[in-house]
Amino acid sequence: MGLIVQKFGGTSVGSIENILKVAERVAEKKRNGNEMVIVISAMGDSTDNLINYAYKFTNNPVSRELDVLISTGEQQSGALLSIVLNSMGLETVSMTGHQIGIITDANFKNAKILKINEVKIRDELNKGKIVVVAGFQGVNLFEEITTLGRGGSDTTAVALAAVLKADICEIYTDVEGVYSLDPNLDDKSQKFKTLSYDELLDLSFSGAKVMHPRAAELARKFNIPLVIRSSFSEDDGTIIVKNIEGLDREKVYAITLHKDEVRLIFNNFKVPGTFNDFLNELRKHGVAPDTISYEVLNEVPHVTMIITRHHLELLKKKLAKKELNFEYNDFSEEDNITTITIHGIGLTIETEIFNEILSVLSERQEKVLGINKESRKLELVLISSKPDELVKILNRKLNLDNGLKN
Ligand code: ASP
Ligand code: MG
Repeated sequence: MGLIVQKFGGTSVGSIENILKVAERVAEKKRNGNEMVIVISAMGDSTDNLINYAYKFTNNPVSRELDVLISTGEQQSGALLSIVLNSMGLETVSMTGHQIGIITDANFKNAKILKINEVKIRDELNKGKIVVVAGFQGVNLFEEITTLGRGGSDTTAVALAAVLKADICEIYTDVEGVYSLDPNLDDKSQKFKTLSYDELLDLSFSGAKVMHPRAAELARKFNIPLVIRSSFSEDDGTIIVKNIEGLDREKVYAITLHKDEVRLIFNNFKVPGTFNDFLNELRKHGVAPDTISYEVLNEVPHVTMIITRHHLELLKKKLAKKELNFEYNDFSEEDNITTITIHGIGLTIETEIFNEILSVLSERQEKVLGINKESRKLELVLISSKPDELVKILNRKLNLDNGLKN
């Protein structure tokens, strides 16, 4: 018996049948005497659909209203789950982020949780109720609805597990855990039985979609007992632990990717102060490129960024309104930028593994733009029109099996 936070993703609540299955899972643990807090995502593609509606009217929907709109998906699924559980004879209450007191910063579409007032949840739990929480949302200090970034329900769940000191936080999704490569890209990828917080953090920041990066960060910070598993099977899933003992992660153990990014080059770039001042300006305006560099070529200063579409849009808005203090002649954009991260320790350009990677890239005539070496990973930045195919080939070629099954 204990306090359990369970989070169910979009597919898990994507249909009436699936919501029923979720309800049965929740009911069983409740009947076993546990206190239950259930965090829910919007049904299936409903968040995408809501966003598409907004873009039918304009290419530039107001962020505040977009958040009001997309936060409704989670309210629907939360209420539905609560209705089902109720009809099964269980006492439940569904709540929005606002109602349970999730306070965030004012950064619409990608807000950060500042604090959670747990009193209301505790009250309801003390009355014996199952609390169903709409994930992915909160309110800023002016009580305006904010959302936590795509995939942000995971963050709601882990943050609640932290403040409530839950005995376990279970993230239910449509795959059986964390894999060496997204199993939707290669059915031969292998599932981790255990993974450390650091590894989960590395994988989620470099593109593994199985968990929202901020959720991984919080889980690590607060040592949240965490498991990632499927809503559709009884598999034990991937258990997240502090340290992996006795496992050899020296070779490649996982591959992740970020795709559909853009390379942006500002020609004849001039800032009134220093480049640091410019970085600070970007930060203040919430524009966060994945990489940024400054160089002078043929006496002409350039700034090159690799940036997600979301941040590119934001940057362009700021440029149009002349809110950023720098000058440039023009800028060029290149699409189809992919960053592939090969996870493993001691990967350098001299290794045999790198040689194998290179042979795949050459064979496919992939255009590599850069390589970045770090202690626990090697990043390849390239222009790739078929990145999913490329990572699948790499996954097979590198034959990842570094004690994954342990
Ligand atoms: N419904 C939101 C999204 O699609 C949040 C989530 O699923 O975690 O991004
Ligand atoms: Mg997700």
